[in-house]
Amino acid sequence: MQKVKMLELLRRGIRQRVCVQCYCRPEGSESQASGRARMCEDQCPIFRHLPQIARTTRPIRGENLGPYERGLREAVCQGCEASPTAGDFCTEAAHARCPLRRYMAEVVDVVERMDEMRRHRAGSRQMAAQRA
Ligand code: SF4
Repeated sequence: MQKVKMLELLRRGIRQRVCVQCYCRPEGSESQASGRARMCEDQCPIFRHLPQIARTTRPIRGENLGPYERGLREAVCQGCEASPTAGDFCTEAAHARCPLRRYMAEVVDVVERMDEMRRHRAGSRQMAAQRA
């Protein structure tokens, strides 16, 4: 149950942070509520691989995107079906047409912020339980 909630929070975070600026977004979709799915989500590499993206990103900590890029290329791009050339030599990625590659910094930031929020909530619950 907790997992489903977290995934939905991540989806909303991505819609707020990434979809509103995405060059693929449907016209006018930037004013839609973050709880509402965009019609391009089924085809979007970010949404299609979101659980895997979160799992890959979580253990990585770094100031630059390099380790995230390598991790996601290995975990997501190799098995991606959004492009016929997906993998190490993906033309979509090379031309910054893949939303995941294009908005990777924002995606990583959303995952890390959600994790921080989750840790903060867990800490608050633990403190409340100790006081009770
Ligand atoms: S392609 Fe992906 S990131 Fe872009 S608007 Fe659609 S769902 Fe959002």
